[in-house]
Amino acid sequence: MKRILITGGAGFIGSHLSERLLKEGNDIICLDNFFTGSKDNIRHLIGNNKFELVRHDIINEYLAEVDEIYNLACPASPVHYQYNPIKTMKTSVMGIINMLGLAKRCKAKILQASTSEVYGDPKIHPQIESYWGNVNPIGIRSCYDEGKRCAETLMMDYHRQNNIDIRIARIFNTYGPRMALNDGRVVSNFIVQALKNEPITVYGNGSQTRAFCYVSDLIDALIKLMDSNYNKPVNLGNPDEHTILDFAKLIIELTNSKSEIIFKELPSDDPVQREPDINLAKEILNWEPKIQIKEGLLKTIEYFDKIISTKKYRESI
Ligand code: NAD
Ligand code: UDP
Repeated sequence: MKRILITGGAGFIGSHLSERLLKEGNDIICLDNFFTGSKDNIRHLIGNNKFELVRHDIINEYLAEVDEIYNLACPASPVHYQYNPIKTMKTSVMGIINMLGLAKRCKAKILQASTSEVYGDPKIHPQIESYWGNVNPIGIRSCYDEGKRCAETLMMDYHRQNNIDIRIARIFNTYGPRMALNDGRVVSNFIVQALKNEPITVYGNGSQTRAFCYVSDLIDALIKLMDSNYNKPVNLGNPDEHTILDFAKLIIELTNSKSEIIFKELPSDDPVQREPDINLAKEILNWEPKIQIKEGLLKTIEYFDKIISTKKYRESI
């Protein structure tokens, strides 16, 4: 049994990780400032005497005795991270400095939730860990991309200078139940639009690509990575790549929706193509994703359907 700190623990990925690590018998400190996370995501864990919920912002120092730290705190959707870009940068940079300081003091292992965004609009496809990326330092996505790149730099420097035991997970687009309804990401937007029979908003002509990983597969990978002894960045994601237009059609099919597809302006710096090369994860973690896209989407659709009906019911009384 370990004492594990999960920052961003009330968010989408953090809540699934908290649930799993708690089930495995660990003591969990779930820390969150509730910017994009919600108590609803971890309500079922509250009351378990091995689960502690702390309202805290990681740009401020946090003291505790822990064996492992999963640093997930950071808004992840473009809409949310662009809402207050300076705060997003502070969360990535000051947040990881605080967490690395904590790891140093406790001699804890620390895993940083990094992102495929460190590759920017990649010129190499699929993306491999040795690729340094093609990132705009002054655009609207830079607060997130450069913040995460800087956090990786700090992780490596604390490792080289202070011998901190680090893990860097470069997470590619992940989806599943407990994504925020309003976070503007493609999976939540399309599913909610389809369930409401509203127009599906494809940005640009929909030829840009993404590859989607179901959340339970990602959780398996994060835990395996923490348990490994690999100190350099590892891509975690599902290489099953789709154009956004085909993805919209798939959601319409799976929801039996009457929605039409409409085209809107493409936001600037939107990466043209993205797909992880996961050979490193396969080799060092003996991991690869198991959940096929249709299976994962049906579970996610079921979740959003429930949320929307409950919301409609609440609003009607
Ligand atoms: P999310 O927005 O659901 O979760 C982030 C959590 O962090 C939320 O609960 C939020 O309230 C909390 N938070 C934000 N700023 C904070 C701060 N300053 N102090 C304390 N808590 C704070 O997003 P998610 O999809 O669960 O992402 C989790 C992590 O994984 C993020 O670091 C994100 O960058 C990374 N990631 C996610 C994806 C993905 O596709 N979901 C892809 C790449 C990387
Ligand atoms: N997207 C879209 N319509 C939407 C939301 C997103 O066409 O309503 C596109 C977006 O332009 C991007 C892709 O879907 O090309 C993935 O967007 P998301 O915000 O989910 O993640 P990211 O761009 O960070 O991968």
